[in-house]
Amino acid sequence: MKEKQESLRTTHKSEVELIEREKDLCDICDFDLYHNDRYTKRVGMMDSGNKVTGWMCPSCNSEFDFDNKIVYIYGQNSVKGDA
Ligand SMILES: [Zn+2]
Repeated sequence: MKEKQESLRTTHKSEVELIEREKDLCDICDFDLYHNDRYTKRVGMMDSGNKVTGWMCPSCNSEFDFDNKIVYIYGQNSVKGDA
């Protein structure tokens, strides 16, 4: 029954609150980038010389540099040169 599941979940409330604090959300889509204390779900991006230049959100594909500045927002067509 639904009610039984609900009460089961509340027993883990403190655990949920702990996870809540460790959340590492994407600025664009609020995807939780937190994986564990060592890794995030951020996707590393490299330039042609295999130098890591930033990271990408695996959920919305937006790109960021290492200052967490947004480089590219997926879906927003901010084309630079409109000749
Ligand atoms: Zn995102």
